[in-house]
Amino acid sequence: MRMPTEADAYPFADQQLPCLVGGEFVRQGRTFDNVNPVNGVVLATVTEADAALVDRAVQAARGALRGPWARLSTPERCALLRKVAERIEQRFAEFVSAEIADTGKTLQQASSLDIPRGAANFRAYADLALTRGSECFEMGTPDGRGALNYSVHKPVGVVAVIAPWNLPFLLMTWKVAPALACGNAVVAKPSEETPSSAALLAQVMQEVGMPPGVFNLVHGFGPRSTGEALVSHPDVNAIAFTGESATGSAIMRGAADSVKALSFELGGKNAAVVFADADFEAAVGGTMRSVFSNCGQVCLCSERVYVERPLFARFVEALAQRARRLKIGGPYEGADLGPLISRAHREKVLSYYRLAREEHGEIVCGGGVPSFGDERDRGAFIEPTVVCGLAEGSRCVKEEIFGPVCHLAPFDSEDEAVRLANDTRYGLAAAVWTSNLQRAHRVARQMEVGIAWVNDWYLRDLRTPFGGVKLSGIGREGGAHSLAFFSEPMNICVKL
Ligand code: NDP
Repeated sequence: MRMPTEADAYPFADQQLPCLVGGEFVRQGRTFDNVNPVNGVVLATVTEADAALVDRAVQAARGALRGPWARLSTPERCALLRKVAERIEQRFAEFVSAEIADTGKTLQQASSLDIPRGAANFRAYADLALTRGSECFEMGTPDGRGALNYSVHKPVGVVAVIAPWNLPFLLMTWKVAPALACGNAVVAKPSEETPSSAALLAQVMQEVGMPPGVFNLVHGFGPRSTGEALVSHPDVNAIAFTGESATGSAIMRGAADSVKALSFELGGKNAAVVFADADFEAAVGGTMRSVFSNCGQVCLCSERVYVERPLFARFVEALAQRARRLKIGGPYEGADLGPLISRAHREKVLSYYRLAREEHGEIVCGGGVPSFGDERDRGAFIEPTVVCGLAEGSRCVKEEIFGPVCHLAPFDSEDEAVRLANDTRYGLAAAVWTSNLQRAHRVARQMEVGIAWVNDWYLRDLRTPFGGVKLSGIGREGGAHSLAFFSEPMNICVKL
């Protein structure tokens, strides 16, 4: 796999990105701009799918479920998915530069996480689908002959995949791969901020010979646009959505009429809990990653950090010192922190920086916008920020900010740490830092979240359940959980 450099052209420079419907690339009607968040430059225009095109995509998907796709065996489907993974790797540099152009994320992250994980998703679900077995129950009958019950896994049908902009390719493929492995047909909608890696995926699907209509791609906005038309479409059977909790609620309302299956991975307001017995260096380093990775735009990022009182002042100082040293810059500059996704999102994060001051917090470092004196001043860069001294009930401690910022507060006992960490309407992830083995297990288990890390953060095994409780989601994906969501088990009872 060749590593891209800044000289690698953005694959869609000055083009109009098409939708993919029924195996055909469609450029029509209204378009919107794809803007580079590093310098505000328009990279390309994007075809916005209206309700009629969304309908065509859904009908194409439905048609594919009656075509050759439906007759492929699981090994044949999985072989196609492996080809998708191979092709992504062959076009690695293009995928990386597309993802970087849309998001401004660092070359290091796009090339070590986003794109490799996208390819890995197709391989992982091909493996999992191949090795999945099914249940069989023998039963007695009054005439003594008995009966055999076995389960078969059928596709759910047409699946809408709606992905956000923070980890665009990783999160889209995380749903597309298992949906296809289970024999469904997909209509995918990326965020309007990040259309490019999805557009490359559409090309790859064509290149590997995916039957027409099995993978459809529609670009556009959410409310009153493409997203809404897709999730309320009566012929869509299931929706796999990652995004904000409020969007999840809106989608749920739209999906209610036709009773669609839903899998939701939503927002978070995650806590890190650092005990005084933790390995100090590891805890500071891990918390730096968990607060500032991807400029704080990961649903799993820690925005609330609770530190046992004897360690508190030292920990705040160490974190702030390292945050001040983070290098902010463009994707190819060896920076630690790229821009936020857009100027609009930067406005939102800055409004929380202002609110933190109004709520009588102490801004220990950051709190503003960096100045470069060049084209990057037209981008969406923001300073990494560390805040202390906010009341637990303040909005900055309660609401998801989704930027490079955390609030630190001290605690005095294990019970208090657990209570503070759980005092939120969200429940996605937590990080616990301690060298006490018993406490590690005890505290991790008490976290009201879908995933708790002990002495690390964002260590992922794709076979494990992934999802959130409370406002952070419905259901679990990952491993067998994804296969379960994207399949309809059916019982066949045979009288012997
Ligand atoms: P949004 O909820 O704004 O958007 C997510 C997707 O939904 C986008 O494609 C968006 O389109 C679309 N959309 C918006 N409104 C509707 C609607 N009414 N009907 C159908 N589709 C719609 O999330 P963001 O893109 O801002 O992503 C950030 C959020 O995602 C954060 O809250 C973060 O915590 C969460 N997230 C959760 C993860 C998890 O696994 N739990 C992982 C990653 C992120 P468009 O953008 O074009 O408007």
